[in-house]
Amino acid sequence: MSCVKTDGVQTDKNSPKNNMGMDFNSPDIMQPRKPVMPPKELRNGGRVKSNAVAPSGVYLPNNNIQTPQMTSPEYVQLSTAAALTLGLMPGDMYNCSCTRCLNLLLTYPEGCRANCAYCGLARHREGERDYADRNFIRVDWPAVPMAQVAEIVAGQIKEDGDTPFHRMCISMITHPRSDADTFAVLKTWTDHVSPDDVMISILSNPTTMTRDDVAQLRDMGSDIFTVSLDAATPELFDRTRGKGVQSPHTWKKYWEILEDARDIFGPKKFGAHIIIGMGETEYEALHLVQQIVDMGGHSHMFCFFPEKGSLMDHLPATPRDQWRRVQLARYMIDYCGVRVEQMKFDSESRVTDFGLPKAEVEMTVESGIAFRTSGCPGKFAEDISACDRPYGDSPVSDIASYPFQPEGAHMRKIRKQLDMEKPGESYAPGEEFEDL
Ligand code: SF4
Repeated sequence: MSCVKTDGVQTDKNSPKNNMGMDFNSPDIMQPRKPVMPPKELRNGGRVKSNAVAPSGVYLPNNNIQTPQMTSPEYVQLSTAAALTLGLMPGDMYNCSCTRCLNLLLTYPEGCRANCAYCGLARHREGERDYADRNFIRVDWPAVPMAQVAEIVAGQIKEDGDTPFHRMCISMITHPRSDADTFAVLKTWTDHVSPDDVMISILSNPTTMTRDDVAQLRDMGSDIFTVSLDAATPELFDRTRGKGVQSPHTWKKYWEILEDARDIFGPKKFGAHIIIGMGETEYEALHLVQQIVDMGGHSHMFCFFPEKGSLMDHLPATPRDQWRRVQLARYMIDYCGVRVEQMKFDSESRVTDFGLPKAEVEMTVESGIAFRTSGCPGKFAEDISACDRPYGDSPVSDIASYPFQPEGAHMRKIRKQLDMEKPGESYAPGEEFEDL
């Protein structure tokens, strides 16, 4: 687990270098490797199924024991941050006492049947690592009986409804059973926890879903429905999630379910995930953000990080200049009423003008909220995500999405990355960790 602070500042030895000195990841460089099929006996969870070890309680990944045969809906995986908050794992994270979103992942010995090029859960890893031991957004995901998770959270809710978690999110992954099992996991949850106390989000798998499934999830108490487009253009989608990597997803089907979500969940209750730095231009990404806002939804952004073991692990992480520009522009489109047409872009489609008077841009930067992790809101404010995914898209030493409110040296660092330093102020490398 690369982001748990054990002693002092955690740095990531594998932290990638910038893109040959460029301040954006260009499309010609961001080419995934071709997937190599694992030996036949290891496909479809072969090792886990042939050993058939019965699960018992919580399973912590990569513990040098045979991965048990765990299957949703009885079992789910949860993020390391959620496991720490629930007290299922020891440790703590830099500047985060807990996470406000309980992220759950369906789990099967065969794992996700898709092969997305940037994802640690992808199918091509079957030979190398059992599904429940694979890293996803840079961290391990312990497996836990679903009823146990629901019981612990129900027991944490105070009389006034206060609870560490503001939101619970089910990530469906791609599996023939994932629709039915999502309903079953949701039923176990709502049998224990009221949606009034902890709001529910669904991170969908459009490839297996129908419009009726979307409606059923709403009727069962879900508050927000999201579609992980991830890639910002149809070509990039096909290259990283479709035919280009022998994966089943199509841009068309993802948009069909996104439009169903718009119709069924309504304004501000649906959204799309977009990864920045996979080869799209800044204009293309922000044009998509505008399109989603015009539909009534929000976009949730992730900074590309070369996930270990993925088909893109040889590629550079998104340079922070590109990431900060897009983070700031996306916040302005999503929450400040600015339109992409008001912004200006250079010949490489980089943002050069955010479309607001300088003083207003300055105020937005100064508030720091634009640089926090984006996602479904919790109970604090509409523009503060419950889903803070600590260090899911960067190492602590070079934070992309801030899982806490950035202040002081962190803000000076952000300003330097944006080339918007205040007069008389400058950032000294590493100064944000001086107190540790
Ligand atoms: S569908 Fe989701 S979990 Fe599966 S490989 Fe693609 S990104 Fe990863």
